Amino acid sequence: MKRTNEFEVVPKSDADEELLRRLLDASAALWNEINYQRRTNFEDPDGDVWEIDEYRGRYGGTLGASTVQQIERKNREAWRSFFALREKGEANSKPGFWGNQDEGRDLRTYIRNTSYSVKWGEYSRLEILVGQDLKKEYGLGYRERLRLEVRGEPNWNEYDKQGRLELYYDDVSETFRAFQPVTISNSRLAQPLADETAALDIGANNIVACTTTTGEQYLYDGRDLFKRFRETTQRIAELQSKLEDGRYSSKQIESLYRRRTRRRNHAMDALVRDLIERLYDEGVSTVYVGDLTDILETHWSVRTNAKLHNFWTFRRFVGRLADTAEEFGITVEVRTEAWTSQTCPNCGSTEDTTRHQDTLTCHCGFEGHADLAASETFLRRHETVARPMARPVCLKWDSHDWLESPRSPRPNEEHTNPQVASVVVRDDFVVS
Ligand SMILES: [Zn+2]
Repeated sequence: MKRTNEFEVVPKSDADEELLRRLLDASAALWNEINYQRRTNFEDPDGDVWEIDEYRGRYGGTLGASTVQQIERKNREAWRSFFALREKGEANSKPGFWGNQDEGRDLRTYIRNTSYSVKWGEYSRLEILVGQDLKKEYGLGYRERLRLEVRGEPNWNEYDKQGRLELYYDDVSETFRAFQPVTISNSRLAQPLADETAALDIGANNIVACTTTTGEQYLYDGRDLFKRFRETTQRIAELQSKLEDGRYSSKQIESLYRRRTRRRNHAMDALVRDLIERLYDEGVSTVYVGDLTDILETHWSVRTNAKLHNFWTFRRFVGRLADTAEEFGITVEVRTEAWTSQTCPNCGSTEDTTRHQDTLTCHCGFEGHADLAASETFLRRHETVARPMARPVCLKWDSHDWLESPRSPRPNEEHTNPQVASVVVRDDFVVS
């Protein structure tokens, strides 16, 4: 199983930072040179894109021979996939440059798996190879590597193999970041604790509503997240309207797009992990997910759908869900089903129910959160579900973690139906 650790890297002194920047900048300069040569060869009827100069002599002293080779290989891969797509007749463009000298190069490099090491622990650190010239200039020993501090918990600190490290400077967060691909053998994976099942209902107000056969319910509130996403989208539209004729984008717009995506992905990935860990603890071995497309088409306007699709990237979400579930030995199954939000999870009626905002009520006395009810109905189609349900756990995103909200719907003790929850009904959420 292949996974990626992503973490922040911090130089320990100004000199180390300068060294690191020079390393990344020289990598970009090398990439650009190789790429320029390949583009030139590509335009030349007699040229061969695979035939390029030997760059080790000029860049080896700064980058080290193995990094020169990695950049060259990475560029070759980019051209290969360009040709592969071209063969298939798919639209795509020639591999691009990593910035330029005038506006600044993209600070990035790739380091071979044997040319770096990460030590995980209380003070995690990364050591990377640099060229002999840089070592001499910055007073590093002949065999010494540049030592950097690592921030953040990796998802995987035990693995069987590490792959090529990607190291780059992120100008949005103004931090150095690293991607470390790792290979994990199945023996390191967890096994489900029991054979329980969970079903997920996916939406916009609440990103995920989940019910388990053990009678647990989880609700992940997406309002704030979706609101921020829309605000950034609006800001991008404003900037686009101010662009000069003939221009489609700017550095600022690109950076806002990246920030928007990163923020969304960060929250979604954290959601998936939080959920899967909870489900694992409940002994869940199978998770059913409804196909979002169905839901969207039935329930919201075209305009809303477009925005929601943009926000949702359902395929990415399900992919991440399946990946994370795999670590715990849990299976994810996507099911295309009829919309279930109007079905009463208590008596199964679809005619006697009324949905108002987030609340579903039924003649049989059921009153509950509509999305949770939908996930429960969805689950009941596959499994027998415990009743009464426990009090739902409601989670809110605080930019770092999904925290249990103190405003979780509480069971109404006076009511005869134990499922009944006094749900906060809000009018402030308008999707479009
Ligand atoms: Zn009912």
